[in-house]
Amino acid sequence: MHEWNPENIQKCGDIYAECTEAALMIRRCGSCSRLFAPPVTRCSACRCDDFERVPAGGNGSIVCWRMVTCAPDARTDSVKSMIAIVELDEGPWVYTTIDGEPPRAGRRPVRVRFQAPPRGDRFPVFVINAGQAVAAE
Ligand SMILES: [Zn+2]
Repeated sequence: MHEWNPENIQKCGDIYAECTEAALMIRRCGSCSRLFAPPVTRCSACRCDDFERVPAGGNGSIVCWRMVTCAPDARTDSVKSMIAIVELDEGPWVYTTIDGEPPRAGRRPVRVRFQAPPRGDRFPVFVINAGQAVAAE
């Protein structure tokens, strides 16, 4: 599990910035086949450091989220965006940017799907599934 701190977020952002495919790429351990999200570089189960990049299905649930205000660079005005940790259906947790309104507190997980590779904010972009019962609680 990742700790929620700026250092981890920065590291993840750098790695996701390399991802330009239409699919969200995760890592599979070359020895035991467990799946991980970047920036994992060593398998927590078997200590192997040989990973293969594989596409994720792109669906998951929001674990936690936070609104942040930041500027992509020094010449750009600050913008508000929602960053989140999403648990993919395959298991790994990934840092993401969420497009759309912040989810209301509820007991049911908020389902999201992968939308696009990283933009200026470096994280893969997810959207909240249409028809999600955000106000159902
Ligand atoms: Zn392994």
